[in-house]
Amino acid sequence: MSAEQTLSIIKPDGLQKNLIGEIYGRFEKAGLEIVAARMMHLTKEQAEGFYAVHKERPFYNDLVSYMTSGPVVVQVLQGEDAINNNREIMGATNPDDADLGTIRKDFAASIEENVVHGSDGPDTAAQEIAFFFGDDGICPRTR
Ligand code: ADP
Ligand code: MG
Repeated sequence: MSAEQTLSIIKPDGLQKNLIGEIYGRFEKAGLEIVAARMMHLTKEQAEGFYAVHKERPFYNDLVSYMTSGPVVVQVLQGEDAINNNREIMGATNPDDADLGTIRKDFAASIEENVVHGSDGPDTAAQEIAFFFGDDGICPRTR
């Protein structure tokens, strides 16, 4: 498989726990390159838009509150099988179900406050990257 891109977010609890470097280190050790990055405090409208797919879920309002409770760091990860690779590094949505050594097993407090987001497929990855970085926000490695 050729190099692929995926959208990753370190969520507000991840910043509160001071885990930016720890999480970036895990991405880099797994061979993923960070080719775009920004820190931001999501507005309610941005969080609602990003998670619109979950609008009908009972946890939607709480999810929006959580995602706007503090700043986040958003990045594009690039590498072989990046989407699945990142999902493996993250672990299962519920930390109780996550494999040992994953970010969520090691750091998540609950199924809601689970430290990281990662795109779940090629279509969502493309949409989510465009949501945060538009057409020209990526910095391809030139060396
Ligand atoms: P993932 O982030 O693993 O792709 P989902 O796309 O299903 O998981 O859900 C998006 C986010 O919504 C989760 O990461 C988590 O923060 C929150 N969430 C998911 N399921 C629940 C739930 N049952 N109760 C509370 N929050 C949830
Ligand atoms: Mg998801």
